[in-house]
Amino acid sequence: MMARERVPQSHKVSLVDLRVGDPVIRYGQVIGTALRDLPEGSWVREDAVGMPEAPGLDELELATQVPDPMEPLEGYTFEGYVNPDGSVGTKNLLGITTTVQCVAPTVDYAVRRIREELLPRFANVDDVVAITHTYGCGVAIDAPGAAVPIATLRHISRHANIAGSPLVVSLGCEKMQPARLMTNDPLLPVFEAERDLVRLQDERGFGETVAAILRAAERKLSILNERRRQTVPAAELVVGLQCGGSDAFSGVTCNPAVGYAADLLVRAGATVMFSEVTEVRDAIHLLTPRCATTEVAKDLIREMRWYDEYLARGYADRSANTTPGNKRGGLVNIVEKSLGSVAKSGSSAIMSVAAQGEKVKSKGLVFAATPASDFICGTQQLASMNLHVFTTGEGTPYGLAMTPVIKVSSRTTLAEKWPDLIDLDAGRIATGKATIENVGWELFRLMLDVASGRKKTWAEHWGLHNALAPFNPGPVT
Ligand code: CA
Repeated sequence: MMARERVPQSHKVSLVDLRVGDPVIRYGQVIGTALRDLPEGSWVREDAVGMPEAPGLDELELATQVPDPMEPLEGYTFEGYVNPDGSVGTKNLLGITTTVQCVAPTVDYAVRRIREELLPRFANVDDVVAITHTYGCGVAIDAPGAAVPIATLRHISRHANIAGSPLVVSLGCEKMQPARLMTNDPLLPVFEAERDLVRLQDERGFGETVAAILRAAERKLSILNERRRQTVPAAELVVGLQCGGSDAFSGVTCNPAVGYAADLLVRAGATVMFSEVTEVRDAIHLLTPRCATTEVAKDLIREMRWYDEYLARGYADRSANTTPGNKRGGLVNIVEKSLGSVAKSGSSAIMSVAAQGEKVKSKGLVFAATPASDFICGTQQLASMNLHVFTTGEGTPYGLAMTPVIKVSSRTTLAEKWPDLIDLDAGRIATGKATIENVGWELFRLMLDVASGRKKTWAEHWGLHNALAPFNPGPVT
């Protein structure tokens, strides 16, 4: 077949003669209808494809094609930090969490002092992180949507990589009081570990406030410094999968390779999460049959419906997801993007669904409902994960302070353009230099190395830490 016109890399060509109204098929699924005749060899551009409706939520098949359990994968381990609650960290960090944005600059200042004055004395502690955010006050804190950011911040404040035990810095008068942040019982009168709490309005002046934070930090650091990595099964990994800046190669290179690695994780007994509601919504008919039980399938539908209603409240239309970069990368619409996105989930049964802000507890493949926005999804996944895998086509330098982020490119051109940002090049699948299985295994082994601290990701190397961005679907006052 000859192309009829110049077609940019990663864009589509019609393989058959398409007439107006004919279905346009990719991944064996209808991604739209031809809006004009597209004879064989035509460039199938965004403006030539009409977008279909999203699949209805009322007539989906529930748990009708549950994949058989996969053969267990034994003998794979990593070196992690085992916590008293049984969770396993991939880093050893001092975490300073905050109840409200008002205290963030003070905590940032204290963190700079801790890093310079205290950290050099505690060689086994990797770093100190400020868990700062824009939430905490000026919000309708009892409105239903408020539960999402509060739960997200609570789980991050109890993260495995800070030993589940943060310092807490509060202002004093804010809506999200320390007890509300740290426990799920907002009526508890005091934070359970009052000595790990610094309340700015109780202190005399800035200098003494910072000194109080430093004293508390020093006490924490001496405890953290006793921690040592120990060998644990790969089953202790909780891996969050995400994509950002996707292109039309994402669904045939990096996402299937990540899906292969997801299957390896499931076989090893680990937890692997996929997320991003608007990027699975149009492929939901492929996911509900894969759910382990009808209850799990119904939970999945509940999350799709919740998000449909959330978007409808904001009058968002179906073109709201897909960015200019997605389109430049050859994705014509959200249907095509979704079909490529769900390849990250591999081929195992979906064992459970976590609602927005909920912490993932079960093993195996889990759908954790989040927005698709990279930094909001990452924040919400951080509540559960100790390792993050991020696929990208157009490229992003994204990273997180609290957990390593492994970035996988969809194309070799990106990996060559950004050799000091991309950790693994899945574009070799498109050029025939590697198979999906090859790259899947490479990623699996890289995950074990990064989780063990034996290898650093580029985002860790450069210290690239995106701000936390909890999803707040609730009202601001
Ligand atoms: Ca994303």
